[in-house]
Formats: sequence, C-alpha cells, structure tokens
Amino acid sequence: MTQSRAGTTESATESATGSATESATDSAMESAWGELVATARRTVADGLVVGTSGNVSVRVGDTVLVTPSGVPYDRLTPGDATGVDLAGRRVLGTLVPTSELPMHLAVYRADPGARAVVHTHAVHATAVSLLVDELPPVHYMTAALGGPVRVARYAAYGTDELARAMLDALADRTGCLLRNHGTVTYGTSLDQAYDRTAQLEWMCRLWLTASSVPGHSPSLLTPDQLAEVAERLRGYGQHG
Ligand SMILES: [Zn+2]
Repeated sequence: MTQSRAGTTESATESATGSATESATDSAMESAWGELVATARRTVADGLVVGTSGNVSVRVGDTVLVTPSGVPYDRLTPGDATGVDLAGRRVLGTLVPTSELPMHLAVYRADPGARAVVHTHAVHATAVSLLVDELPPVHYMTAALGGPVRVARYAAYGTDELARAMLDALADRTGCLLRNHGTVTYGTSLDQAYDRTAQLEWMCRLWLTASSVPGHSPSLLTPDQLAEVAERLRGYGQHG
C-alpha cells in the first residue's frame, strides 16, 4: 500500500494567495467536482442506485474527490467538495467521505491509470452476484471490461476486507460484481467508468432475461470470440 506523505496539508481551499499553479489546481478540482456530482446524479436518474446507496470518486493529481456519506446527490453544491489523499486523510471539505472509501482508494493504489470509480447497487447486477461466481459471457461488451466479469467474495460494506475481495475480482478487469452488494467499475474518466457500470448492468439484465426462459440455456461467447473483440476494441483506441 502506498504511504503517501501529504504532510500537514489542511485544505486546498486556503490558497487565496496562490500561484498560477495553485489556481489551475483549484479550477481542475472545481470542474472535477462538478462532473462527479453530475455522474452521481446520473446513477440515481438511470435507476442504478436508490437514494445515496452508491458512490463515485475521481482522482485529480494525488487527491481523490469522493461523494460524501449520506447527502442526497441533488443537494450537493460546489461548496461540498470532499477530497482525501491516497492514504484516506481528508484534504478538502468538512463532510464525511463515503463509507466505501477503502474500495475507491484500493483501485487508485492498484492501478495508477485509474482516474474514476463508480460503485452502485444496480438491481440486475446485484441479482447476478447472488447466483454465480462469474457473469457468463453473453455479449461482446464483456471484452470491454477485460473479460468475463467476476463476483468478489462477500465482506461487510466499508471494510478493508471488502476492498481486498474487490481487488482480487478486478485482476485484469475494469469491473466486477460484489456478492450480495453491487458493482464496481473504473476507468480513465468519469464517463468511461459510468458507461462501464451501465454496460455491466445491461449485460446482467440480458443474462437474467435469457436464462429465465424455461427449457433453454443462453448461448455464450467462446474465449476465441472474446479475444477477437478485444483485438478490435484495441484497434478502435478503446482501452479494455
Ligand atoms: Zn455499496
């Protein structure tokens, strides 16, 4: 684990006398917070989350902006920006960060390319997490998540144990299911992380729908077929 040394930094908001660099950082933080709030609201509007049960984060430099715990997303304002360093120490804002902070930080520590993480309790994805250890490869979007999506072993929410289980399930993947809990996806931007969650939920719904027809089992893609798609996705400049 990274032991980031951010010193005694109390708040990035105290840079009133700031240099051009600090101003640029402040403005990057402001726009990232705006995008984070918009993404969090989208998870509710699109039915992936009920109330405040999911959470979203975005990394700007060595600061991770996260949704605060227990505040409805439609009430979040620019003044509510909440940020921590990679060790989880609060460096921005006064609200309490999401209780799922250990999962978010574990992703950023494990993959320096990760810039955004989305966690939801999407109903079809969570239903699949109760049934199998891996989402069967029913569609080629499986390849966009790095391969068949695994289900992380169960652990209580907010714990380091859950973060470890999630990391195991994320090996060579950009998304996983959490048993009896929900989804985690990440990407190089909030839009990409969000889109991966939406695609994952859609694939789970597809599999549940097809596998619920009595007397039939869904046809699945072969490893060769998934490899072919992965190759083509790379060709289109998307990162699997
Ligand atoms: Zn959760």
